[in-house]
Amino acid sequence: MDYKEFYNPEESFSRSELEALQTERLKTTVKHCMDSAFYHRRFKENGLSVSDISTLDDLKKIPFTTKQDLRDTYPFGIASVPLRECTRLHSSSGTTGNPTVILHTAKDLDQWANAVARCLWMVGCRPEDVFQNTSGYGMFTGGLGFQYGAERLGMLTVPAAAGNTLRQLKFFTDFGTTVVHAIPSYAARLYEVMCEKGIDPRRDTSLRTLVIGAEPHSEDTRRRIEDMLSIKAYNSFGMSEMMGPGVAFECREQNGMHIWEDYFIVEIVNPDTLEPVPDGEVGELVLTTINREAMPLLRYRTRDLTRILPGDCPCGRHHLRLDRMKGRSDDMIILKGVNIFPIQIETVLMHFEELASDYLITLETLSDNDAMTVDVELKDMIFDDYSRLQTLEKEITRQLRDEILITPKVRLVPKNSLPKSEGKAVRVKDLRKKF
Ligand code: ADP
Ligand code: ZN
Repeated sequence: MDYKEFYNPEESFSRSELEALQTERLKTTVKHCMDSAFYHRRFKENGLSVSDISTLDDLKKIPFTTKQDLRDTYPFGIASVPLRECTRLHSSSGTTGNPTVILHTAKDLDQWANAVARCLWMVGCRPEDVFQNTSGYGMFTGGLGFQYGAERLGMLTVPAAAGNTLRQLKFFTDFGTTVVHAIPSYAARLYEVMCEKGIDPRRDTSLRTLVIGAEPHSEDTRRRIEDMLSIKAYNSFGMSEMMGPGVAFECREQNGMHIWEDYFIVEIVNPDTLEPVPDGEVGELVLTTINREAMPLLRYRTRDLTRILPGDCPCGRHHLRLDRMKGRSDDMIILKGVNIFPIQIETVLMHFEELASDYLITLETLSDNDAMTVDVELKDMIFDDYSRLQTLEKEITRQLRDEILITPKVRLVPKNSLPKSEGKAVRVKDLRKKF
């Protein structure tokens, strides 16, 4: 493998080179942030001045920035440049509440395209490739973010956008698509429709690489998707507040996502105490942008839970690796006092050969008690084999209880019977009475 073939020289930086660059960029960013009404006030209120931040360790003196801060200053209050210097606005998809606005200058967009191109290059994409993007275009950054990154690399791009699965498949076969970007739930859907239409991904397409991200998914889900589509799938992490896709990406080792430390300073903190967690432990990802112009964010609490993987990556990059996201702190289900992440349930379900990829967790109050139902689609019709169904339900329930410590009701449902969404999959429906 051409491991040493880096897209940018910064990719090959040693730790000390990275830290030196981060220190310089942090100082510049903090200085620049004083042009933001929000940060100017924050610094003043906390008795901080620009000269207090001269090392990476000094970062800890700066208060965290939260999603609430973005909402409170909606729409433009955190910007560090006048609006006339901005050339694009994105807003987060609002999965967890009101949308928030992120501004970009032309330079921000240029850096962003560069980061995405770097990620795609890292997993072997080259100008000869045909790149099809199944993301929604528009406010969701997965559309334009990948579009400009793939163009920067020089691939032939197919901006198919979300939905219309039959048309997506036609493009695969007609245009010889080799690289696809899709959210995991949609990648599984693509395969289902291929099967229905008698398309064999090995025989009838040139698909080679899949970029999957934007929502949590388990290692088993990835392997399943790889087997189904006969493709290599790389995990891609991003968020609108940081720019969009291109923040962290798996290399060809498929073992953790390199987060680009020439763009971001990474911290992992305990979400309750906000103190740093010991190395390698799971906590909330906190990111500081160090090369953004329009709207740099200092110590932004992402609410995503992950950990830094220890050790060096065989690919030769020293940029830290983030483990697969465990979910967001606000995705956590608290049921009967037990903390549960949907991804724990997915991990159990995806071990079962008989199950398809779609599931829905419903939380309800039944005679004043909280209860969980897990509906999961079956791959094939085995509804005539009642005893097999029962055994399977029992075994799934047992394994779920071992994992999440409560006993959910498991219901096996026919394929395609659960609601499908065009964007990120909805995995949890909370119908509990709020007391
Ligand atoms: P919204 O916050 O409204 O969903 P974004 O499009 O900015 O809008 O989504 C960013 C979020 O998506 C991240 O904070 C994270 O929770 C989730 N996410 C993105 N990529 C991944 C990934 N590879 N694995 C798990 N979660 C991801
Ligand atoms: Zn690597």
